[in-house]
Amino acid sequence: MLARDGNRRPGRFVTQTGGIEVALVELESVDKVYRTGKISVEALKDITLSVDSGEFVSIMGPSGSGKSTLLNIIGCLDRPTSGSFRIQGKPVESLTDSNLADLRNKCLGFVFQGFHLLPRLTSRQNVEIPLVYRGMAPAERRARSEKMLAAVGIGEKSARFPGELSGGQQQRVALARALVGEPLVILADEPTGNLDSATGREIMTMLLDLNRDRGITVIQVTHDQTMALYGRRIIRLRDGGVVEDSPVAEGGRDSINGPLAWYC
Ligand code: ADP
Ligand code: MG
Repeated sequence: MLARDGNRRPGRFVTQTGGIEVALVELESVDKVYRTGKISVEALKDITLSVDSGEFVSIMGPSGSGKSTLLNIIGCLDRPTSGSFRIQGKPVESLTDSNLADLRNKCLGFVFQGFHLLPRLTSRQNVEIPLVYRGMAPAERRARSEKMLAAVGIGEKSARFPGELSGGQQQRVALARALVGEPLVILADEPTGNLDSATGREIMTMLLDLNRDRGITVIQVTHDQTMALYGRRIIRLRDGGVVEDSPVAEGGRDSINGPLAWYC
């Protein structure tokens, strides 16, 4: 399936200048307030956390607790209202919108609950989109997209439209699209939320393989404890704040069917 890449090991980035190690993403006292008319919603309150390269993090919490807002800020789809947010040590507030678009395109891969595929494009054309934005020549982007669809196990569906595919197959296309640009980080918002549990486990196993074998950092949002336990660390939000940030105990996934009192 997905090729091993021994060069990408988990760990912190070392800057070229001073040899100082920096986290992949670092949020410090981040707040996010949504204002619509006279109403304002404090979606995130005083969030301080960092994620290192190579981690597999699950963000959990009830509906409305700020999970998607946090993931969107980490994915540079949205900006904090206050506080500092750095990627590989660089303050994101200092980047222009065009820098941010470039960062999203080259370093980040997104997977969403609703797949977000374009219905009038074939699987292969959907996977090609990030490469189109990079200005890659058609023959090369076609070849890369075909290869990536094969890597996620649906090479034979390349000429199919999303409407002709099952949910699991559509999420594989979305995963191929997220991976085709060789991102450092996969950001997934409820990636198994629209899938049956067996298909969901297949998608999670692929994310786990990508993390373990290729060193890709995975940050996922989920409210499903089974899916959360594929990660190595769980960050739990409530009312926009972090209420728990703890490693998944060794063998934690083995106890998926056992008592999980600590978890709930
Ligand atoms: P979760 O993903 O945990 O369900 P969200 O991050 O989507 O939570 O939302 C956190 C809070 O912010 C909720 O109260 C939600 O209604 C509010 N919110 C999210 N997005 C917006 C927006 N674009 N405008 C106004 N309020 C929003
Ligand atoms: Mg959400």
